[in-house]
Amino acid sequence: MKQKGLLYTGKAKSVYRTDVKGQLIVEFRDDITAFDGGKKDRLANKGSYNAEVSAFIFRYLEKNGVKTHFVKMLDPRRMVVRELSMIPLEVIVRNLAAGSIVRNYPFKEGTKLNPPVTVIDYKDDARHDPMLNDDLIVALKLATPAELARIKATALKINALLVKLMAAQDITLVDFKIEFGRGGRTIYLGDEISMDSMRLWDTVTGESLDKDVYRFSKGDVMATYNRVARRITEKPGKAGRKRAPAQAGPEPAKSSIRQTKRKI
Ligand code: C5P
Repeated sequence: MKQKGLLYTGKAKSVYRTDVKGQLIVEFRDDITAFDGGKKDRLANKGSYNAEVSAFIFRYLEKNGVKTHFVKMLDPRRMVVRELSMIPLEVIVRNLAAGSIVRNYPFKEGTKLNPPVTVIDYKDDARHDPMLNDDLIVALKLATPAELARIKATALKINALLVKLMAAQDITLVDFKIEFGRGGRTIYLGDEISMDSMRLWDTVTGESLDKDVYRFSKGDVMATYNRVARRITEKPGKAGRKRAPAQAGPEPAKSSIRQTKRKI
């Protein structure tokens, strides 16, 4: 497969045309941004960690009946994907309250959301991704009611699968964002699922294992991304990681919140 011209460049990924009809190459760059692009950096290897985790998760979801755009990896940071017509929606599923819903609504951080809460934002940087509702999505002709129902059901299915995958590694899936696109009449999961788009907490210590480490300068971002990539993609035990007894773990950053999470 030959990589051809640049089709689109986002904050952390670039999309290229290829010589194969209906297939594109997504390159995961080392750029990292937060706060609507207000904080920016380039961190060596970040792209390959996110590509590795995304590929692993796409394969896992496909095995479990979710249609994704993933085709194969070309190298550690370049993924071949099915060309989709992307739907400009950011579908966020939340299992615990954190991030923007704690800022915008009276939730205490770490509150369990059962059933999970799905929020859909309009993907539009200039408008700061405003939150939508079903009527707005249909009125804006972003999706038909049937497509919307399918998108929501698929997002919840993905959530259940990811909660299980992460729990096996003592990771709590707090929330994540996904995007969908149309390929013919079928809706596929597109974009990525990585440490940039999930909020992950260590179930034992409560430590952040995702982009919050970058957003809030909580520590060494790349050491965290590397460790999480190993933990998610390598079978338990393979990396020599043993579950630490709760009392022997490092002191949690926010002990009361982290105590709540430990019970989840
Ligand atoms: O910021 P907020 O709490 O709304 O984010 C919820 C989840 O969606 C987080 O895991 C965050 O990383 C992800 N997200 C994203 N891209 C955005 C907005 C949120 O990946 N543009």
